[in-house]
Amino acid sequence: MPVLTRDEAQTRARLIDVQRYTVDLDLTRGADTFDSRTVIRFTARAAGDTFVELKPADLRSVTLDGQPLDPTALDGNRLPLTGLTEGPHELVADAAMRYSHTGEGMHRFTDPTDGETYVYTQLFMEDVQRVFVAFDQPDLKALFDLTVTAPEGWTVLANSVTEHLGEGKWQAATTPLLSTYLVAVAAGPWHSVRTEHRGLPFGLHCRRSLAPHLDADAEEILDITRACFDRYHEKFTEPYPFDSYDQAFVPEFNAGAMENPGLVTFRDEFVYRSAVTDTERQTRAMVVAHEMAHMWFGDLVTLRWWDDIWLNESFAEYMGYQTLTEATRFTDTWVDFGVARKAWGYDADQRPSTHPVAPEAVEDTASALLNFDGISYAKGASALRQLVTWLGEKDFLAGINIHFQRHKFANATLADFIDSLASGASADRDVHAWADAWLRTTGVDTLTARVTDTDSTWTLTVDQQGSRPHRIAVGLYDRDPADGRA
Ligand SMILES: [Zn+2]
Repeated sequence: MPVLTRDEAQTRARLIDVQRYTVDLDLTRGADTFDSRTVIRFTARAAGDTFVELKPADLRSVTLDGQPLDPTALDGNRLPLTGLTEGPHELVADAAMRYSHTGEGMHRFTDPTDGETYVYTQLFMEDVQRVFVAFDQPDLKALFDLTVTAPEGWTVLANSVTEHLGEGKWQAATTPLLSTYLVAVAAGPWHSVRTEHRGLPFGLHCRRSLAPHLDADAEEILDITRACFDRYHEKFTEPYPFDSYDQAFVPEFNAGAMENPGLVTFRDEFVYRSAVTDTERQTRAMVVAHEMAHMWFGDLVTLRWWDDIWLNESFAEYMGYQTLTEATRFTDTWVDFGVARKAWGYDADQRPSTHPVAPEAVEDTASALLNFDGISYAKGASALRQLVTWLGEKDFLAGINIHFQRHKFANATLADFIDSLASGASADRDVHAWADAWLRTTGVDTLTARVTDTDSTWTLTVDQQGSRPHRIAVGLYDRDPADGRA
């Protein structure tokens, strides 16, 4: 099956603008497949050819502007759209789609404890094509109108607030502009804990068999959620961009969590079923803070292409640790980062396989995650932390807020991010040079501190091996409290 290349994505984004998806899913068609009927409204800026993506079990029919297209023209995951005229178009596709058991697309799970069934989506990178037809690339954002037919007794969650229309029919409010990989649905007889914060509905959800365990920790999770939410509103001038904040703990999840706007999914191992250490509670809190940072950086402003995934993750990693430290009882998170995460980055950066934090080019979706490692997450987050120290937090946040203002509900690149930070920085800080030195190079710098002690005067000298700019803090500690020299 062909993978989308950067060139193809750029060509398609020049040709078309996508306005709206109307997606209708029927989850009552048995255990193997569900029905997916989608209408896409888009505009061609010129006459031309392009394609739309879908991985169906059975593509029953497709029409373009009311004229039938041949479903057998589907080549792998690509349906050619040839001879488009300049102007508005409407594509309608009706298909049966397979449930997955691998966490890709629409995952279906039956709980062995009580026989209840749950489904949820994980559409990251290119798995929306397993659920509905799409122009699947991050910079073709659109509005989404979603309706779902589900078995009686189920609750349907989505990016926006959902309403039960009766007889298993659910409708989600129209979303703001979203990337296709960020659309989310979770349906099943969820156990839910609901509350409101600052006028927005907040919810926690898990499968029924875990209800007592979620209930036991719900206040703790909600306290952290509220504290981070409030702290982000102190840092960011853009308000939270979506109409609700649901956190669903889902079974058999592949990753730790996924930052779907308004509907974050977590692996349900984070619903603790026995006594756990405080470090495990801190890890869960860290994931809550990390995913919430993505609501702004990732969801409101989205990478244009997959070469900037490292920036998406490094930003959320940095912001998650910092915000947890500032807003919750977990005030030692940077110690945890130094011990558990940073060593991962140092290690990866001193191997022959090391690479710059920012890759030069990611040619296609298949290679987007090949180099995704301790450098992408841990060194990237460390570099951002150094950047904040070097710029000063006030100027850093000024740059971030300029970035959100410039690119909200749209897409941005690393170059856009650096430009925004440069706009917020004082004149003596060359952010572009900083980015070249820190993000386009490999390997570590070594700083060595030497202290000389003469006549009770201490002199600190820091020798630097490497050429990157550093701004560091120095601590002075008494070896012995009774030693009065400090
Ligand atoms: Zn993340």
